[in-house]
Amino acid sequence: MIATSAHAFFSSGTWLVIRNLLLFFAAVIWFATLYWIYKDAKRRIEDPWVVGVAVAVGVIVPYFGPFIYMLFRPPEYLEDVRERELEIKAIEERIAAGDHRCPVCHAEVDSGYLVCPVCTTKLKHACLSCGAPLEPIWQVCPYCETPIEPAVPGTPPALGTRRARRSIR
Ligand SMILES: [Zn+2]
Ligand SMILES: [Zn+2]
Repeated sequence: MIATSAHAFFSSGTWLVIRNLLLFFAAVIWFATLYWIYKDAKRRIEDPWVVGVAVAVGVIVPYFGPFIYMLFRPPEYLEDVRERELEIKAIEERIAAGDHRCPVCHAEVDSGYLVCPVCTTKLKHACLSCGAPLEPIWQVCPYCETPIEPAVPGTPPALGTRRARRSIR
């Protein structure tokens, strides 16, 4: 009795509609998981082949593919990795370029400045002959070949020396 009614139900059009709907939703959810894997893998994996493999896992293992993928996916997004690399590169470039800063107020200064324009701290001595900014370790001015006398501690910076020399001549 029950068997016949069950048989009647499964052969009826209602069951067919329900079965097709279930299959349809199952397929939709499966494709949704594939799309999710594809979208997530593209943000984390650069190699399109590896992205393809990740999606293939979702195809081969329906519904559980995303969980398998989550176990093996890279922990970081590509844009985060790129951003960090750019930051490191910028820091390296700043170090390589010689980050010139005023030792007193830490304002950015040019390597050619004699004084800090912000706090007026004396940064470098000027060449007595041509007025070019000199590095502390130089023995001779590279611009005009004038020998540099070692700085006497306590003496005021050689500001206006050029004028003084000219008036002596
Ligand atoms: Zn300064
Ligand atoms: Zn000079």
